[in-house]
Amino acid sequence: MRIEFKRRLALLRLRFQLPVAPKFECPVCQYTGPFLPFTATIGPRQHAMCARCGSLERHRLQWLALTTISKQVDFSKMRVLHFAPEAFLGKKFAGMFRSYATADIDPRGVDYMIDLTKPLPFAARSFDLVYASHVLEHIADDRAALENIRRVLAPNGIAVLPVPIVAKRTIEYPEPNPFEVGHVRAPGLDYYRRYEPFFRKITIFVSEDFSENFQTFIYEDRSHWPTPEMPLREPMGGIRHPDAVPICYL
Ligand SMILES: [Zn+2]
Repeated sequence: MRIEFKRRLALLRLRFQLPVAPKFECPVCQYTGPFLPFTATIGPRQHAMCARCGSLERHRLQWLALTTISKQVDFSKMRVLHFAPEAFLGKKFAGMFRSYATADIDPRGVDYMIDLTKPLPFAARSFDLVYASHVLEHIADDRAALENIRRVLAPNGIAVLPVPIVAKRTIEYPEPNPFEVGHVRAPGLDYYRRYEPFFRKITIFVSEDFSENFQTFIYEDRSHWPTPEMPLREPMGGIRHPDAVPICYL
């Protein structure tokens, strides 16, 4: 009966040209199947969210990058500070590392309330890994934040500091944009050059580095930019945009 139903559905798809939802694999939770669309404040993205754990494109790319560097460094010996923590990543991190602490400028649900532009309430060299995903695009004085992050990192420490790559070249905004949850810039890949004075080495992982199965690209129509809500963004062609995660080594 089931087989008959599947066959009929396949025939109907052919007849009406129904699109077959592509299947992907989530490297975080091993779910296999279609990913869900996700609408951020600025518009919908296709194939964005894992239907089981809720990981987005950037989380899967970050996870794949972490898995890669876990072959070079011993996570079980590392003390981690996680800014603006994603709950599902936090659950994983808590069991992977020697110690795990969370921080945010909003004190709800984190261990430390921290403004990254002010000196951090930790002794120098307190952490081996600082993780702050999609944080620096909210901070105008990002160089102060980078300096503060560097100060709390131990020798050979690692900072994972991805921002959304939404421009060909970084566009600075004169003030935070409330329609972009307070972003102060639209970063391009060139933005990561800003990290160079603070670190010995920066390795950038991009979507193309990993299997298409994991779906780490941003499927988003950017051709209609700028919009009244995002007046300084520039149009970008194509509907599939690579993401990029910098791993910064002290
Ligand atoms: Zn998942």
